[in-house]
Amino acid sequence: MSLVSIEHLRKVYWRDDREFEAIRDITLEVRSGEFISIVGPSGCGKTTLLSCISGLRSLTGGRVVVNGRVVNKPIREIALIFQDYGRTLLPWRSALGNVIFGMENRPEISRNEYEGRAREALRSVGLVGIEQSYPWQLSGGQQQRVAIARGIANGSEILLMDEPFASVDAQTRSELEDLMLKIWKELKKTVIFVTHDIDEAVYLSDRVAVLS
Ligand code: ADP
Ligand code: MG
Repeated sequence: MSLVSIEHLRKVYWRDDREFEAIRDITLEVRSGEFISIVGPSGCGKTTLLSCISGLRSLTGGRVVVNGRVVNKPIREIALIFQDYGRTLLPWRSALGNVIFGMENRPEISRNEYEGRAREALRSVGLVGIEQSYPWQLSGGQQQRVAIARGIANGSEILLMDEPFASVDAQTRSELEDLMLKIWKELKKTVIFVTHDIDEAVYLSDRVAVLS
């Protein structure tokens, strides 16, 4: 059985008092443990698709089913990692403070436990010794590692990644790609990875879906 099932997804936005169809009819099954990339040119609806899968946006038609349940709001099984880490890390919180965000208000997790998980997540993305640094004290690549750590720390089995390496230099990018493969193998995550870069998609994934 598939872990994520996207069934006839349709998304229409309202723009300038008119309907704008961003996604017409997408059907896609993602198996547990799979690394799938979705490629397509800018404006084809990739971010819209991920935000619909994550439950952050409502669908106009069709449905998304995760673990047999219809998604209609954000759920713990799914973590979303955005392209623009500079706008999703909280500048007034340290790296550790950013990673524990989202876990610290869960009553079933003690402070000891969530701090431990956050440190472990920072370790698995190769960040040790910068726990107390603020985002603005870190390089772009390090900031994106913090964002990835935040995505994996709360135990979500599905990672949705929206062009996560589009705004770092080529060398950092290839390091982050290898880091993602390591995380995927070690932590046995299911990854839905959006990119406009076909080479990146082919290098990383089991399967590539192309949006036109
Ligand atoms: P991609 O991520 O592939 O670049 P997007 O999903 O961001 O594409 O956008 C797909 C299309 O939907 C674009 O034409 C964009 O202008 C439009 N769009 C995206 N978000 C909105 C919105 N909130 N309201 C209206 N139109 C939108
Ligand atoms: Mg986008």
